[in-house]
Amino acid sequence: MTNSPLKLTQISPNVWILPRHPDKNRVQATVGMVLTAKQTILIDAGNSLQLARQIQAALAAIDAPPISHIIYTHHHWDHSFGACVYGVPVIAHQLSRQFLSQMQQENVGEAYLRTKVERNPKLILDWTAEDWAEFELVLPEITYEGQKRLQFDDVSLELVSVGGIHAADSTVIKVVNEGVMFLGDCYYPAPRYEEPTDQMLDMAMLANLLDEQYDHYIDGHNAPMQTRHVRRILRSQALLARLNSSR
Ligand SMILES: [Zn+2]
Repeated sequence: MTNSPLKLTQISPNVWILPRHPDKNRVQATVGMVLTAKQTILIDAGNSLQLARQIQAALAAIDAPPISHIIYTHHHWDHSFGACVYGVPVIAHQLSRQFLSQMQQENVGEAYLRTKVERNPKLILDWTAEDWAEFELVLPEITYEGQKRLQFDDVSLELVSVGGIHAADSTVIKVVNEGVMFLGDCYYPAPRYEEPTDQMLDMAMLANLLDEQYDHYIDGHNAPMQTRHVRRILRSQALLARLNSSR
């Protein structure tokens, strides 16, 4: 556990992020923060209660307005398990609610993460017995299907259901007037792969998401990308595909 305050990165006038942890063994996904004049909306909740408390402290340090809502990009533990700390309603795709309610019925929690550590002993988890005693899954109270526009004070967010092989409930969240798009893990391979490679990414989905109105693409487990980075990835993958097919 670290006591030094988390460092947030500003992406655009109203958008900040806690970047994903560079150590993949922490499985700590990017958390987005949209700050309006009166409220802060979180994009994903953090992978643990400890991290959620550190996010609250980091937001207080930049004088962010109170957190009013969380939007889940998808239901996976590393994006949702911190949610119970904030005590605010969650917005997500209808399927996220379905998956999380199933997880709730199956009592997914401590034993579930213990199994993950058994499979990958390098996995580092910031959970204490007290945290597990307080933990509860937070199901989305507000759900959508297809596409939904949300207005928070002067900021418009657009939620688009993209699904995909990683998680059927994947939502992309667009911060409409700031050129920022949160991708979650939507173009990643199925989560059963412990060490996925770049070749397993859904390049067609990523190419479809490219939009000239958006310059910042923020996914769950990489550094933020700008349009030119995304284009470079798409070009190198296309080249690789050609090389492989001509072999
Ligand atoms: Zn995921």
